[in-house]
Amino acid sequence: MSKEGEITAHGKDGEATAPATAGILESTLASLDFDIEQLREKYRRERDKRIRPEGERQYVETQGKYARYEDFDPHAPTIVAREPIKSAVEILIIGSGWSGLMMGAHLKMAGFSDIRIVEKAADFGGTWYWNRYPGCQCDIESYCYLPLLEETGYIPSEKYAYAPEIFEHARRIGRHFRLYENAVFQTTVTHLKWEESQRRWLATTNRGDEIRARFVLHGPGPASHPKLPGIPGFDRFKGHTFHTSRWDYGYTGGDNRGNLTKLADKRVAIIGTGATALQCIPHLGAGAKHLYVFQRTPSTVDVRGNKPTDPDFAKTLKPGWQLERQKNFESIFFGADIEDLVNDSMTAAGKIMSAAYRESDPKRAAQLSELLDFKDMNNLRARVEREVKDPAVAELLKPWYRRFCKRPGFHDDYLATFNRPNVTLIDTSGSHGVERITENGVVANGVEYPVDCIVYSTGFEISTGWEKRIRVPIQGVGGKSLYEKWNRAAVSLHGYATHGFPNWFYVGLGQGAFSLNFTVVLEGQVRHLAYILAQARARGVTRIEVAPEAEKAWTELCKRTSGYDIELQKNCTPGYFNSEGKPGEGHSVVAEAYSLGVLSFENLLREWRERGGLQGLQMTAEPGRE
Ligand code: NDP
Repeated sequence: MSKEGEITAHGKDGEATAPATAGILESTLASLDFDIEQLREKYRRERDKRIRPEGERQYVETQGKYARYEDFDPHAPTIVAREPIKSAVEILIIGSGWSGLMMGAHLKMAGFSDIRIVEKAADFGGTWYWNRYPGCQCDIESYCYLPLLEETGYIPSEKYAYAPEIFEHARRIGRHFRLYENAVFQTTVTHLKWEESQRRWLATTNRGDEIRARFVLHGPGPASHPKLPGIPGFDRFKGHTFHTSRWDYGYTGGDNRGNLTKLADKRVAIIGTGATALQCIPHLGAGAKHLYVFQRTPSTVDVRGNKPTDPDFAKTLKPGWQLERQKNFESIFFGADIEDLVNDSMTAAGKIMSAAYRESDPKRAAQLSELLDFKDMNNLRARVEREVKDPAVAELLKPWYRRFCKRPGFHDDYLATFNRPNVTLIDTSGSHGVERITENGVVANGVEYPVDCIVYSTGFEISTGWEKRIRVPIQGVGGKSLYEKWNRAAVSLHGYATHGFPNWFYVGLGQGAFSLNFTVVLEGQVRHLAYILAQARARGVTRIEVAPEAEKAWTELCKRTSGYDIELQKNCTPGYFNSEGKPGEGHSVVAEAYSLGVLSFENLLREWRERGGLQGLQMTAEPGRE
């Protein structure tokens, strides 16, 4: 069982403790088998072709006439009738993906019981409730990614568990911590309003509920709102369409393991080739009569190497093992020269990315970083050549950008899918993606491809503005909107709370730490928030508000220590890390974050708690105890 304060930074303020790497730059330069300037030029050309002047605005939201792409629940199409709730609770949790579940679990462990969880889906799981597409699987090692493994006594069956197992684990957490008795499903919070006279939030929902809550913990999740490409003619298509996060097995047949038998007589288009598409394209290729893959930017596709969990693995584990493993994973990404417990392609990429952190001279570090990345990407491009038989197709599948410009991809069957005679890659390189949708199909490079079904694998509102990400109108003191305040970027203390919005706590990616392993980010946040709420209870506090100077200081610290390199991001191919090619202008989730890593952040929060005094928080006791 992991304990408070066990996470420690691997060096002060996130500095790596690894030894210096004098000589690596020289030896790398001496063994170069490519022309640096030619590669740079190639990357520039490929990026420039993809930059769109409208940046993040190229996408359309799943609202209004497009709401069905998000609101239709293929897993529970019937809404279970119930009476509206008119009640008051101590703690309202909005969302029950990992954020809400982990928050609920930690609150229960801290002895809280007057909790109401409101969830749009028909069960727990968040992204793992919605995303059940064929091949859906976690891309971070399961032993690190699935939360609360020690607390629930569960060991994942594979190194990279598939979606049904992950969804079941979410349900396991719900059962283990008796969170089902606190939950109301198929319910969307439509408005949140602070009532100063009551010192409570009023949450209204699409089911006519009015729930008053002393404290609100809001965990909307980074990938809960699908986004759609603003392709002309988008709504003209007469065939079948859906977004990958609302997979329609009624239409395709099969399940998460494939067997999409109903597609045997169907021509299918998939738009998008990101992390999701890598996982479902092999199954679409196997099932469809013909599959057209519309690619704007190729993903990196490294080795997956999934394997069943060794039956003896559990016997080797000592209490605290999961936190140790997560900490090990994080340290690797900050250049620590330690045994790599996860030891997969993701951590290998992390080691290459962070090797330059050990160079103290910034110029040499930048040079080394670029060189190592070129070499790494050359290896990935060579993998494409090995896997794809047709050299012309292989050429189109090669990514020309630095690996961490986009979330790294991994798969062992994706590339070979393009060897199938019924799979055609339509690369839109040189244009801005798919040109048009018609009544009959998809137009790219001036050619119409008639299809029966279009699958949109076009991602989520991960890094677009806060209003698009959270979506619920939130009115704080004096009716002020959160989105007016967070219009350009979040301003908060430690990412979770902001002045003018008392008793409202945000759980998720923002101005806290960032990691490719989202659940480790949450683990630190929810422990910290459980501590704050326990302190409030002990002190009879009914109003907690961040002091303006505290959030100003935190925001300045995030900016001062930011590792978000605008110049480097400008050179990246467009994506959600760099606000679609306009770093600094949009709302990149990486740019806002505290850059020194999860471990440094955890250390900082632990020190804050140890200092006592709840520095930066204005705590007001209920009348009579003030
Ligand atoms: P992404 O945002 O990564 O990909 C969207 C895709 O749609 C891109 O290939 C994009 O091209 C393409 N696209 C957008 N507009 C157009 C257009 N007009 N014409 C043609 N193509 C277009 O979404 P994903 O769903 O793949 O992944 C989102 C995130 O979800 C991941 O980054 C990851 O964080 C998470 N995820 C996590 C998994 C896990 O195991 N934990 C598994 C899967 C996803 P372009 O690249 O050119 O923009």
